[in-house]
Amino acid sequence: MHFKEVKGILSATNGMNISRGCVHGCIYCDARSTCYDMRHDFEDVEIKINAPFLLEDALKRKRKKCMVGTGAMSDPYIPIPENLANIRSCLEIIERHGCGLAIQTKSNLILRDLDLLKKINEKSKCVVETTLTTYDEALCKILEPNVCTTKARFGMLKTMRDNGIKTIVWMSPLLPFINDTAENLRGLLQYCIEAEVYGIINFGIGVTLREGDREYFYQKLDEHFPGMKQKYQRKYGNSYQVMSDNNNALMQEFYTVCQQHNIVYGPEKLFTYMRTYEDKHAAIQLDLFGDRD
Ligand code: SF4
Repeated sequence: MHFKEVKGILSATNGMNISRGCVHGCIYCDARSTCYDMRHDFEDVEIKINAPFLLEDALKRKRKKCMVGTGAMSDPYIPIPENLANIRSCLEIIERHGCGLAIQTKSNLILRDLDLLKKINEKSKCVVETTLTTYDEALCKILEPNVCTTKARFGMLKTMRDNGIKTIVWMSPLLPFINDTAENLRGLLQYCIEAEVYGIINFGIGVTLREGDREYFYQKLDEHFPGMKQKYQRKYGNSYQVMSDNNNALMQEFYTVCQQHNIVYGPEKLFTYMRTYEDKHAAIQLDLFGDRD
């Protein structure tokens, strides 16, 4: 781990990553791809030590309140004390400015900050996103070895539900020959139904692989699934899109179950939802004026 003072924190679309790199160890991690031009080891997490200061400054300058998004490129709950302190400070700032939040993590450490998430959700909108890839706990320890398992993330989703916080699940990746089965899909969907998730993002049954990410993935396949790398190489070569043969049947089942349970599944619809700011105080005041009429 190392620290860095960065120049800016919020992107043009109000996204931020408070660190670079990750220690969660997911074998399929796209953030390892060389196209992101990381100049340090992936596990040598770079903590953007001035992130809260920059966020405070950026939000102060905004003429309109907005949704802040975080967690797209690196998990905000990497278990390093300075990182955990930074994400809590950032949430405090977001709450104080009355902004909304869409936060993505695989870690149930987010429950530590439930008080702040609830406060953000009282003024605006808080959306918690997590990833579910496998219903099989033992397989989860192989695919995502250094973070809490699917069952704990399911528990986190239920806690958010019980506290009125909307959740979105990234059901991805479902890896060909590994977790691309109807049994796995049904188990994950059942968790989503029970946790009453708002939406599920699923781009199809498969994975994307590119330089940097592919090498690490293959190294892990060799460690845990002997012969699997050769199977991938034969079938997919150097393709970026690595789609499962079961894609059509499983996606049909996915759409049907989502429709039956009123789960939103169009990725664009969900991205729009996460980017759309809501002012709950203004909505309450409008209701009050409505009552007087
Ligand atoms: S949590 Fe995200 S960034 Fe971290 S290793 Fe897993 S996929 Fe990569």
